[in-house]
Amino acid sequence: MDLGIKGRRALVCAASKGLGYGCAEALAEAGVDLVINARGEAALESAAERLRAKGVRVTAVAADITTAEGQARVLAAAGDVDILVTNAGGPPPGIWSNWSRADFIDALDKSMLTPIALMQACLPGMMTRGWGRVVNITSRSVKAPIPQLGLSNTARTGLTGFVAGTSRQVAPSGVTINNLLPGAHATDRTLELDGAAAEARGVPREEVAAANAAAIPVGRYGTPQEFGAMCAFLCSVHAGFIVGQNILLDGGAVNATI
Ligand code: NAP
Repeated sequence: MDLGIKGRRALVCAASKGLGYGCAEALAEAGVDLVINARGEAALESAAERLRAKGVRVTAVAADITTAEGQARVLAAAGDVDILVTNAGGPPPGIWSNWSRADFIDALDKSMLTPIALMQACLPGMMTRGWGRVVNITSRSVKAPIPQLGLSNTARTGLTGFVAGTSRQVAPSGVTINNLLPGAHATDRTLELDGAAAEARGVPREEVAAANAAAIPVGRYGTPQEFGAMCAFLCSVHAGFIVGQNILLDGGAVNATI
């Protein structure tokens, strides 16, 4: 399927690996020029090289997207983008009784206020030009809370509320905002979480991963490629009627009718 976005320009945050890279790769395959970001320069430059090999222009900005300074540098390099994919590392696991006010403020900054600031910066230009696509990478924790990721449950739900209202306000200008909710995907983040669970239970990480995969109806973790394909579709010309949705990519793990 021709996604109809060849020659468009996208900012994909936190994209040197994992789900962000999956989105950048699928957009590059659709002919979209990219500005990508991550903190670590070496992995970011290597990702940019792989994306350039797909025939698109790629600018790489090494910065912490959760800081005002990092956002300013990334947005300056991005300029007028047609597509924005927000993403950053997820909050650490823990337990509800231990999180301090500072922990909550940190999680809100990273997982709620950062994507909101990026949207506030990019939406006006998209609206003036009459076309735009925003995809926020959130989490299945928005639909089904993950006990050890209470900081994610909390902060991402706030972002979801912002998107629910704002997406309806910008839709008349040809701009869509939607959220992609990953379930367990085979990325470094999942390796880390499996590792932490394995350590807590005193079992090998592979055992935790196998049990987690077995609990998913498709019997495996998702891939960044599958995730990226859905992101690119949401950014395509075919997705103009999809507004303010929370799309779960979890292999059927959340057992719910709707
Ligand atoms: P990942 O494999 O660890 O990759 C994270 C990417 O984001 C890397 O490129 C990393 O590069 C970059 N990054 C992290 N913090 C950043 C920051 N402050 N500023 C700029 N770049 C940053 O993680 P992932 O699995 O793709 O997860 C992406 C998001 O989806 C996370 O928020 C995660 O919580 C959420 N999620 C993932 C899953 C899953 O199964 N994978 C499930 C639910 C939710 P640097 O470290 O070099 O900056």
